[in-house]
Amino acid sequence: MSVPVSICTFVKACNSEESYAYLLKVMTANLKHGAFTLGGCRHDPPCTVDEAAIAKLDARLAADLAALRKPKPDRIRHFPDNRHDG
Ligand SMILES: [Zn+2]
Repeated sequence: MSVPVSICTFVKACNSEESYAYLLKVMTANLKHGAFTLGGCRHDPPCTVDEAAIAKLDARLAADLAALRKPKPDRIRHFPDNRHDG
């Protein structure tokens, strides 16, 4: 089953990292399904869709989804994870 995504989710994801994380999660699930349904906005007043912002978001989403599709590299990291500040 694909998860329908409304245009509002895209609008919200433009402005919030939390919403972007949710959108990425949903789109990752939809990627496995191979398709998803884009729903329109049913809010009153309707959400303002900034085409430029959506295009930017779409590019980021595509890059993140492409990265997820690749197998994880199993080489040793050269940067310490437990770095302390100060
Ligand atoms: Zn809306």
